[in-house]
Amino acid sequence: MATQNTITFTAYATKNLCYKAAQKMPNGSPAGIIIHSTGANNPNLWRYVDAPDICGENKYGTHWNVPEPVSGNGKPTKICCHCFIGKDKVGKVRAAKILPWNICCWNCATGSKGSYNFSPAYIQIEICEDALTDKQYFEDAFSLAAQLCARLMKSYPTIKVENIISHKEAHARGYASNHGDCDHWLAKFGKNMDWFRALVNSGGVIETKYKVIGTKTVSKDKLNEAQVQLKALGFSVTTETV
Ligand SMILES: [Zn+2]
Repeated sequence: MATQNTITFTAYATKNLCYKAAQKMPNGSPAGIIIHSTGANNPNLWRYVDAPDICGENKYGTHWNVPEPVSGNGKPTKICCHCFIGKDKVGKVRAAKILPWNICCWNCATGSKGSYNFSPAYIQIEICEDALTDKQYFEDAFSLAAQLCARLMKSYPTIKVENIISHKEAHARGYASNHGDCDHWLAKFGKNMDWFRALVNSGGVIETKYKVIGTKTVSKDKLNEAQVQLKALGFSVTTETV
């Protein structure tokens, strides 16, 4: 049965061989976090998470609560991440925890020096991709991922922000297979992992900048009044005569 809190809900993939293996992380604590994205256009959590009451039902049985999920290569694979971020059954962006944070997942494969699945062991989060053109979904999903990372850094002080990296960066360090996620998605919106790490440091709040241009003709007194109010809201105000 799924349980919930404000950021994540838990729906453990108890049938997955990785959950059953339950290999403890070295020192019982994660050394960092890898942010992945799924590489397939389906932003719905039901695709991967077996929690029909929250996510909706996967009519095809292709979620990851099976011994070996069918992954991108089309074959049953020993694979499991810690968490998926995507849309629940009403379209709200949520984080679904499918493994305990402090056991090793099987998600980034191996690079030239080893694997961040095991040693050192990283928490690994998959963000469900859509068509990579919806800015609102992009911001909601990455903002939630950053909030979750900030919370995990509090729970596990062994996680430093410089060790919150993408799969692509994990490969560059020699500890993961050669994939481009999630940098390719970030790049679609002019962002990169440095932006994401800054977002983690700010607690996941994406600031939007607005420019207000007024065209109303007003008296000097009314103008002064408006300026005071706008400045109190943090706007920098310039005026010109028309
Ligand atoms: Zn990946």
